[in-house]
Amino acid sequence: MIIAVDGPAAAGKGTLARALAAHFGFAYLDTGALYRGVAHAVLKSGASASDEAAALLAAETLNPDQIDPKAIRTPEVSEAASLVAAMPPVRAAILAFQRRFASHPPGDQSGTILDGRDIGTVVCPEADVKLYVTASPEVRAHRRWLELKGSGSGPSEAQVLEDVQARDVRDTDRKTSPMRPAADAHLLDTSDLSIEAAFDVAVALIETSRG
Ligand code: C5P
Repeated sequence: MIIAVDGPAAAGKGTLARALAAHFGFAYLDTGALYRGVAHAVLKSGASASDEAAALLAAETLNPDQIDPKAIRTPEVSEAASLVAAMPPVRAAILAFQRRFASHPPGDQSGTILDGRDIGTVVCPEADVKLYVTASPEVRAHRRWLELKGSGSGPSEAQVLEDVQARDVRDTDRKTSPMRPAADAHLLDTSDLSIEAAFDVAVALIETSRG
């Protein structure tokens, strides 16, 4: 069984996808971490995030097991990730890994959950259940700001809102795999819905699909 969880930055899709994976015993892949891993490698090499040759090399040599989970969560890497993610050759290089993971999950799990921007539309259009998790930019920025504050990083909430909106524009307007809900996706707006309530809705959808 394949579950696609898409949506914009800080909508709660990662939290939801992880909770669903734990509940059902499914394998979980955070596909944003792959683009972040590419961006982090490019920046570390001293190249600019808009250097397509450097980004492609980083994507082709990316070892997902060696992505530093903390280093990829900075605002600089977030911005760079949305730049490298707009490059078609980078997306092509990352696509194969995501599809392999979806069809051959590590371990003996009976299902996989992938979260990202284009899982339901491009990576796994055949997914059994597709969720599109959204929230207003203000709510998302507030959540991300609290998260960053908790980890000791200190941009203002207004700055975080600006970053979130810039990323939304880039992810939505790019030509290759723009962020959008699949036609058959279930929309979950977490502006007024707690993550727990969204979790209950998602569990019911997955259980219905499992039969
Ligand atoms: O989900 P997260 O915020 O970690 O993703 C970082 C960036 O990676 C996004 O802003 C987006 O540009 C890119 N991304 C993507 N397609 C995915 C997952 C992430 O383009 N499936």
